[in-house]
Amino acid sequence: MADIIQLLPDAIANQIAAGEVVQRPASVVKELMENAVDAGAQSIKLIVKDAGKTLIQVIDDGCGMSETDARMSFERHATSKIRQSKDLFAIRTMGFRGEALASIGAIAHVEMRTRPHDNELGTRIVVEGSEIKTQELCQCVSGTSISVKNLFYNVPARRNFLKSDTAEMKHVMDEFQRVAMAYPDLFFSLHHNGNEIYHLSPSSLRQRVVSLLGHNSNKKLVPVREDNSDAVQIMGFVGKPEFAKKTRGEQYFFVNKRFIKSSYLNHAVRIAFDDLLPEESYPLYVLFIEIDPTQIDINVHPTKQEIKFEDDRLVYNYVKVSVRHALGRHNITPSLDFEQEMSFRVRPDTPSSGSSYQPPNIESGSSNTPNWSFATGDGDSVDQDRQKTNLENWKLLFDELTIETEEEASSGVPEEPASITIASKATEDATIDDEQQSFTRAQKEPYQVHGRYIINHIKSGYILIDQQAAHERILYEQYVAILENTETYTQRELFARNIELGPADAELLREILPFVNQLGFEIDPFGQTSFVVQGVPTDIGKSVSVQQVIETLLDQYKSNLELQLPTRDNLARAMAQSASIKRGQSLSVPEMKSLIDQLFACAMPFKSPSGRQCFLSFDLEDLEKRFQSS
Ligand code: ADP
Ligand code: MG
Repeated sequence: MADIIQLLPDAIANQIAAGEVVQRPASVVKELMENAVDAGAQSIKLIVKDAGKTLIQVIDDGCGMSETDARMSFERHATSKIRQSKDLFAIRTMGFRGEALASIGAIAHVEMRTRPHDNELGTRIVVEGSEIKTQELCQCVSGTSISVKNLFYNVPARRNFLKSDTAEMKHVMDEFQRVAMAYPDLFFSLHHNGNEIYHLSPSSLRQRVVSLLGHNSNKKLVPVREDNSDAVQIMGFVGKPEFAKKTRGEQYFFVNKRFIKSSYLNHAVRIAFDDLLPEESYPLYVLFIEIDPTQIDINVHPTKQEIKFEDDRLVYNYVKVSVRHALGRHNITPSLDFEQEMSFRVRPDTPSSGSSYQPPNIESGSSNTPNWSFATGDGDSVDQDRQKTNLENWKLLFDELTIETEEEASSGVPEEPASITIASKATEDATIDDEQQSFTRAQKEPYQVHGRYIINHIKSGYILIDQQAAHERILYEQYVAILENTETYTQRELFARNIELGPADAELLREILPFVNQLGFEIDPFGQTSFVVQGVPTDIGKSVSVQQVIETLLDQYKSNLELQLPTRDNLARAMAQSASIKRGQSLSVPEMKSLIDQLFACAMPFKSPSGRQCFLSFDLEDLEKRFQSS
């Protein structure tokens, strides 16, 4: 048989390699910015057009390249960063595989201008589809400028696979943020379609984090610093638990200044927070782990976002302990006795509709002592409270026939006289008729269990409604209707309020502002990162802060971006998720009734917009059978 194996031509080999390294514009941004950092640049500018689909340019003032190196840099496995295999285990630079420029040159139109500081002339190189089209001497500033145009021009499948500009731009900003966060002592800027989104002067880490995540983040940060171990050092910030968000997002691990994803270490942080976080919420963290490079392997994934630790348990424990210490130093950790009580006591008691669930405020006023700590010494009231919470739990268990307690009577919940309580128990002279009547009436009233579910009797049995999913469905349908019509329902504010967002969020809000305003907001941009709020939708509770509603709205919107929904649909969903009644919020009987009525008036009452079941039904006959069989 004739020989049939052939080496692939470079252009094809490069394209295949590019498939791993370059998935989207953001991958190019990452590789180019990392090269600039490796080149020792003090200033790194990123210019992007159409979310990087048309242009990505990175300009640095780093070491530049000689003419030969400039040409070589587009060859595969051409790198100045490692020379021998043992170097692989002592990597201090961001790059080392010599694959990025070769890959980018295979699937885009690339132009590079580069000049080392002590050369008079620089080099200009144009590469298209792995082919050097031009190479010439040129006048240019020292450093390197690389522009990448028409990404995936020769890989239509990839190009078509790209998502909306908003979605791609979010990825670009994520990559930009990760590099800028790791190097606060360097200057960075980001321009998108002529707009300067970031302008970051060299600063402390705290300042850098705040400029990236928004001025509001300053008050949220608790410093973490642990450096009494030789093997591992940790520093950075965790967010105070009361600012934890409903979506993952502001969570950053860096190992030797490289951004990594690790669900393992993420778990360590969560464990450190313990009961302090409400369910389904994600704390902010920006944590830098410094470790001897021989103790890690970065070479496990093409994007280098996953790494292996030689001793991962050690790192895990170290992260956990450091975060615990940091929270403890700031009096944010609950004392041991207290931990047991937490789950009972985080139940909110204000039933205002539309307000989102607030974890307990653990830094009351200016004092650093938590106002609910057992360490404060008023043991009596604590005991009473404990009895009360026990009682509440028993009530939840035997929820059909509860006895009205003082607490309920004085809780200000606008309950109807014949709610879930049985008045006759307390009134000795009640007739049996009365008792039965109120019993059946009570049975028909919906009631809430664990501040999450609503039980509602129906003829054949009962249904169990997930209050949050149900409310999301109701709001979603309302918002879709509003966005389809042109009428809006705005409540004008007496005094305009200002909100302040991080630069990335501000950019996003400006983009979707016409739609947001159609939902009933009246928001105008006011400078780069501020907005003036003149009005809010009528159905947003008075007690919630607009800032918070908008932040949650944007977070939800971002996390829905991957779904590639039309803008309106995403916005209706995000708004429904942001404004819905949360699990843990207690509801009065009229509130429950109205929720149930509205749910079953929906076109699609069964599922929440994100696909969660809104209710389960239980059939009496089935129940009967189940009891018999056991
Ligand atoms: P790697 O970063 O893994 O070495 P790249 O393909 O990203 O591989 O870059 C190849 C080489 O080109 C680098 O090793 C470096 O020597 C050179 N290079 C790339 N970008 C720059 C830059 N901005 N400034 C100076 N040299 C650069
Ligand atoms: Mg590189």
